[in-house]
Amino acid sequence: AKKEGAGKIKVFRQWMLDKLQESRTLEHDMALALVNKEFVVYYQPIVDSFSQEIYSYEALIRWIHPQKGLLSPDSFIPVAEKTGMINEMGKSVLEMACREAASWVIPTKISVNVSPVQLSSKTFATMVLSILNETGLPAERLELEVTESSLFTESNTPMNTLNRLRALGVKISLDDFGTGYSSISRLSRLAFDKIKIDKSFVHSISTQEDALNIIRLITGMAKSLNMKSVAEGVETQEQLESLQLLGCDFIQGYLFGKPQPYIDGKIRYG
Ligand code: C2E
Ligand code: CA
Ligand code: CA
Ligand code: CA
Repeated sequence: AKKEGAGKIKVFRQWMLDKLQESRTLEHDMALALVNKEFVVYYQPIVDSFSQEIYSYEALIRWIHPQKGLLSPDSFIPVAEKTGMINEMGKSVLEMACREAASWVIPTKISVNVSPVQLSSKTFATMVLSILNETGLPAERLELEVTESSLFTESNTPMNTLNRLRALGVKISLDDFGTGYSSISRLSRLAFDKIKIDKSFVHSISTQEDALNIIRLITGMAKSLNMKSVAEGVETQEQLESLQLLGCDFIQGYLFGKPQPYIDGKIRYG
């Protein structure tokens, strides 16, 4: 039994070394990728639930890896957050997205995801303003998507940053709502413009009565707090109809379009 235990430890050690090696090369690859401009932005429409007009495009980062091909953010954002590289990466996404949006004939909004790590930086608001300045995108057309975890901190920086940007016209959305530990009092104190209902609720609309009730609760709460609601992950006509009945203001999902590297058939990057 002792021998077996030692063997297990050995296997575990090797596994840990492999993991360390893996994340080290990933980190190294990511630093190179930033320099080589391998990160690109895909765009997914967010539409008005009723008119179905495009209201905004969400910018979603992709890594075009020279060997591994297209990588999705879940495979590298956590490492970027751990190493702090997310600050540089997030700035680059914001720059690309604002420049792109500033060139559109139809002035729809652009929604950009912001990591809690970025929001805890004291220079974030200034960086955003200088990018708006450089690209000429009006503040009113920029929407930042933040998560609840950004605000679980003793520091006042994230809240001050959001308030400052909001006062200048930038819109703020609360992403992945319902998956964290939001309190209603926190929500009303922060005065977001929008609440995004996590796709896990949308996907169980037709199978779980709870999901339907939770969405009804969120859309109702958004209304009474003077905020708009957005449902993400909408894939079927049936889900769309339920969401319309529940009074959800905006819809995003494969039903209207997958994230794509271009707008109106024009490829801009890659
Ligand atoms: P998110 O902000 O919640 O983005 C929504 C995710 O749902 C996206 O995944 C999108 O492609 C996916 N999605 C949209 N419609 C549907 C649908 O109908 N069905 C299904 N099954 N999925 C749908 P993606 O692009 O892989 O991004 C994953 C996460 O990575 C994002 O979740 C966001 O948290 C993060 N992320 C993406 N881009 C950035 C970025 O530039 N900066 C930061 N900090 N995070 C980012
Ligand atoms: Ca988002
Ligand atoms: Ca989300
Ligand atoms: Ca998410």
